[in-house]
Amino acid sequence: MTTLTDIPPFPADGYAPLADQIAQILHTQNDVLLIQAEAVVALEACAMSLGRPGASALNIVTSMYGQWFGGWLRRAGADVVDLQAAAGQPIALAAVADALAQGDFDLVALVHAESAYGILNPLPDIAALARAHGALVVVDAVASVGGHALRVDEWGIDLAVIGPQKSLGGQAGTSAIAVSDRAWAAVAPQGEAPSILSLADQRALWLDRGRGALPGTPSAIEFHALHAALARVADEGAAALIARHADTADRARRAALLLTGRAWVRPDAASNLVTAVALPDGISAADVLALAPKDTALSAGVGPAGDRIIRLNHTGPRATPWVIEHDISVLCDVFLKIGLPVDRAAVLEALR
Ligand SMILES: *Cc1c(COP(=O)(O)O)cnc(C)c1O
Repeated sequence: MTTLTDIPPFPADGYAPLADQIAQILHTQNDVLLIQAEAVVALEACAMSLGRPGASALNIVTSMYGQWFGGWLRRAGADVVDLQAAAGQPIALAAVADALAQGDFDLVALVHAESAYGILNPLPDIAALARAHGALVVVDAVASVGGHALRVDEWGIDLAVIGPQKSLGGQAGTSAIAVSDRAWAAVAPQGEAPSILSLADQRALWLDRGRGALPGTPSAIEFHALHAALARVADEGAAALIARHADTADRARRAALLLTGRAWVRPDAASNLVTAVALPDGISAADVLALAPKDTALSAGVGPAGDRIIRLNHTGPRATPWVIEHDISVLCDVFLKIGLPVDRAAVLEALR
């Protein structure tokens, strides 16, 4: 048996096929870089490679990930306009159009689907607006890849960052970035010493050398894990994986609506990764979680409106109706304890 201390090496010719498989999932012909780090590092690498004095960015903020992205761009010297959505809500397309009309931006950055609040930003429409403006489109698709349709070339996405640890059901230690030719033209050149935050270095040290072994000492355990996660995605089929998320999310949203009589967001603006149960007035997520079992998978949202919702997590292996049936059932129990009216049979029926 292989133990965690005696991992076989990952073959040097094994990296390019991983990048190719990711390109297929993203529907792109663009270059795909593999990053030997969790996806937040890949996001920082994009910001540090595009940000420079004189560059201007419209940075859409729908959770802390967008806040961080703006912060990295500023650290790199860029002028950044943060366009903040209403707490816990997707960005409105009109707000993006207004902001673009008021500035001259080199790039527009956004998160596709948010697990922090269970929302989906209108990415294809925003990408079209940004491109009409002449701006690069930078997308954090870490959560959405595998949970939502993501068509990088068709939608004109210049930088797409993904990670295996959400809908793809893998481990968090690697990530990938799809880079368009337009984006390459804007990327900062190599510096004096190689950096994991430099896309130009990743290109020079891996792409331009024929996509063999990654620079440095690749962590075999992480790439075996990525290989296994992508093999499981291939077995199921990427389209089937997305359909499983969409189907589970649809059921969860119907049940949540029956339970509280209100939806947190419109179904077409809801993510397929988590469902936000909009809590009745006067009930907070903390109230609910205090009465839920200690090991519950229910959670509050993350950020300023986090206490107004309970999140049902149906991401990756959890994207199955019976996982949600269990969690909704726990939520029904808590609501009953609080003294709220609950038609448990109807709520559970909505999941079937
Ligand atoms: C999960 C996620 C990331 C990666 O961050 P970790 O929390 O460190 O896994 C980045 N962006 C988005 C939108 C995410 O949901």
